[in-house]
Amino acid sequence: MEKTNNKIRITIDGKRTYVTKGSTIVEAAKENGIYIPTLCHFEGADPKACCRMCTVKINNRMMTSCTTPVTEGMEIENDTEELNEVRKSIIELLFVSGNHFCPACEKSGNCELQALAYRYKMLVPRFPYSFPRKEVDASSPKIIKEQNRCIACKRCIKTIRDEHGKHYFAYKNRGQHLEVILDPVLGDTMPDDLAKKAMENCPVGSILYKEKGFDQPIGTRKYDKQPIGSEIENNV
Ligand code: SF4
Repeated sequence: MEKTNNKIRITIDGKRTYVTKGSTIVEAAKENGIYIPTLCHFEGADPKACCRMCTVKINNRMMTSCTTPVTEGMEIENDTEELNEVRKSIIELLFVSGNHFCPACEKSGNCELQALAYRYKMLVPRFPYSFPRKEVDASSPKIIKEQNRCIACKRCIKTIRDEHGKHYFAYKNRGQHLEVILDPVLGDTMPDDLAKKAMENCPVGSILYKEKGFDQPIGTRKYDKQPIGSEIENNV
């Protein structure tokens, strides 16, 4: 990318490039066809650095790239063995702290967590499974909230609101008992389009739109065709 007035110079993994002033590292990388993995990050919603998947190294310090703005001359390490190992550990921790049975999940093939596990070559997690007991909430007429698969990324909290800005989803409890739940009152009257959007915005299979499932054959889904991140890497 060429230098213009609203561009600044940064280096990612030794590659010098010009990026838009005021953008975050994750946005700047994307602009240049460089993939930095994310999970909780969602375009158009405030970044909160919940999941730490987008961790990069700047001046030997680990930083989250979704919340760090680019600065002139910044040198960023991204696709390194050390950082990819950190990312793999985060993925493993997410798998062992929930109950993710991919073959039986409607989101399989469209799931970002599963796709990241493939990308970072996760085999058997190095951490013990916790097998938590979680209830499935099917009380809403429109969606099923599958707590076993929720990774508490907050994407539904940030992006699913009614016309007055009221949140359909919220945190409940703290620490290891933390859950993301659907508001029972709002959930009862949830409009169709919002229920579908909630399912789409969830990176895993924790929000399922009722009466529509398994209608896209396995093998034809998004990440069955290409690894996660390749849509950014191929778009230069
Ligand atoms: S339900 Fe989905 S979008 Fe909401 S916090 Fe859980 S994983 Fe994230």
